[in-house]
Amino acid sequence: MKFNPDLVTIAGNWKMNGHIDTSVDVEKLINLINGDDANIILFPPYTLISQFVHISKNSILSIGGQDCHHKDSGAFTGSISAPMLHDAGADFVIIGHSEVRALHGKGSGNIMNKTQSAHENDLITIICVGEDREVRLQGEHYNFISKQLEDSVPRTSNRNNTIIAYEPIWAIGTGNTATTADIKEMHAHINNTLQDFDMFKKGNPSILYGGSVNPKNAGQILSINNVNGVLVGGSSLDHLQFNEIIKSK
Ligand code: PEP
Repeated sequence: MKFNPDLVTIAGNWKMNGHIDTSVDVEKLINLINGDDANIILFPPYTLISQFVHISKNSILSIGGQDCHHKDSGAFTGSISAPMLHDAGADFVIIGHSEVRALHGKGSGNIMNKTQSAHENDLITIICVGEDREVRLQGEHYNFISKQLEDSVPRTSNRNNTIIAYEPIWAIGTGNTATTADIKEMHAHINNTLQDFDMFKKGNPSILYGGSVNPKNAGQILSINNVNGVLVGGSSLDHLQFNEIIKSK
């Protein structure tokens, strides 16, 4: 099975990092995690997807893309489509990461269309939501996240093909992890909001936290109510650190 929503999910977003020779580290990671009872996913740059799919074939590691276009093909220089990710062997895709949303202004852009295209091509989506510091200081973060969820989650979603990641922008890559109280309150808010979505009448999707997760704070974060896993950037680049995060579940 590619994804079990009842298990903890530990996902590593490599962003624009990694070369062919990093495959050695992925092989070491696979040896450390085989037998673990979790959904473990790596999101390398597009150039490494086929290679990592090949090495992880008989392991519990899954591979995904960091974004996709909402169209299947066409004159969209620099973009990659959901059928292309599927063709390369990916099973997952991140949609709406704040670093991608930033390229399209503050709005949700076409996140919903991208997610729908991913589902139509048999990809499991991690939809990212998260407020910036300004929105939080204005006390608007709950309204902001509700609106992002409404604008991002399509009718094709269900708890088996959709994961939500709460990634406050002020916590990404800054070392400023959100506090336990911040995470607990926002994950409860997201959980409550999703209960009103028709697509989740049979159960809410997993909700991950992302933002400066590391081996030291992962155990604490994973023990918070309504936290079903973590999306890890910087600390996923080192296979030993990533394995420590997986083992702290
Ligand atoms: C991310 O980019 O999704 C992320 C959570 O990054 P970091 O762990 O480096 O804050």
